Amino acid sequence: MSDISSAQPDPKLVKFARCDGFMPALRERVDAYFVQTNLAKRDNPQMYVKTAVILTWLVASYAGLVFWATTWPQALALAVSLSFAMSAVGFNIMHDGGHGAYSRFPLINRMMAFTLDLLGGSSHFWKKKHNVIHHSYTNVTGIDDDIEVGPLGRLSPHQRRFGFHRFQHFYLWFLYGFITFKWQFYDDTAGLIIGRVGDMKMPPVKNWDLVFMLVGKFTFLTLTFGLPLYLHDWHQVVLWFFVASFGQGVVMSVVFQLAHCVEPAEFYKPDADSMRIENSWAVHQVITTVDFAQESRLVSWFTGGLNFQIEHHLFPQICHLHYPALAKIVEQTAAEFGVPYHSHPTMRSAVKSHFLWLRRMGRPVAVSA
Ligand SMILES: [Zn+2]
Repeated sequence: MSDISSAQPDPKLVKFARCDGFMPALRERVDAYFVQTNLAKRDNPQMYVKTAVILTWLVASYAGLVFWATTWPQALALAVSLSFAMSAVGFNIMHDGGHGAYSRFPLINRMMAFTLDLLGGSSHFWKKKHNVIHHSYTNVTGIDDDIEVGPLGRLSPHQRRFGFHRFQHFYLWFLYGFITFKWQFYDDTAGLIIGRVGDMKMPPVKNWDLVFMLVGKFTFLTLTFGLPLYLHDWHQVVLWFFVASFGQGVVMSVVFQLAHCVEPAEFYKPDADSMRIENSWAVHQVITTVDFAQESRLVSWFTGGLNFQIEHHLFPQICHLHYPALAKIVEQTAAEFGVPYHSHPTMRSAVKSHFLWLRRMGRPVAVSA
């Protein structure tokens, strides 16, 4: 089929259309908002309080599981709590730090991003994959790593379809749980040793980046296996590590998918000859992304504003606590410029939309987005 991707396009060759006035207008209005309200884009006291609350939740769940739990219902409850706490660290602390949205001081941002290393990932590789690739080439098939889940799933209309994809709207939710094991034990090691994460080439890791990475891996392995194995049987350690990491994988993957792999989101494949994308960068970000549950304070708190993903893609270096206010500016400006702005009213409607998108992509006839 002609629309199926065969070769990986080189991201450096992809070109967006010229700036169309949408982003300058947005930037001006958002800057005016911060002047009028006298609020800081970063270093917000509420963010430091939120960080303390989430880290306390994380430490309490871990300590309860390792030092206190004696029955399996206790251990199960604490492992599930730990999986949500680890996800909250990733969504809120690490993600803002990795984007430089936490503080104006690079060292503080680096410390916050380093929380990913303590959870078994690599903030160094994440920055390269997420900040550069995902944030620039959102939903561009063959480049955006977030829509590549291997042959078991078909998330984009330009990806190859296999017969078993007809069931993917049922089984992919389960497979999402394994994504954490992949980055804990495979992706970062491959990035370090063979210089590749997935299809992306990675430059050699050097100096402080290497030190941070190795210290992070050592601390993760000590906290996950070293200390628990000193206190418990190995099969208990493996079981509860699996439950906590699997839960984290499902929670994180589902939240990511609700922003881009849902029915109203657009998917692109650059023109093979010109490598052009028909819209400007900012318009591309809006039409490939969908907000959800904007009115839910609980969802906004837990997901670190990832339910305001459109605002995050347009202003990734602004602390996520400001996204609800920015959403009103973005939605109004998008309407003025004729840019489609989509938001699912609730988390439930977004989950349903992801289910329907997976079912559509799994059907025999490819339907272009
Ligand atoms: Zn991001």
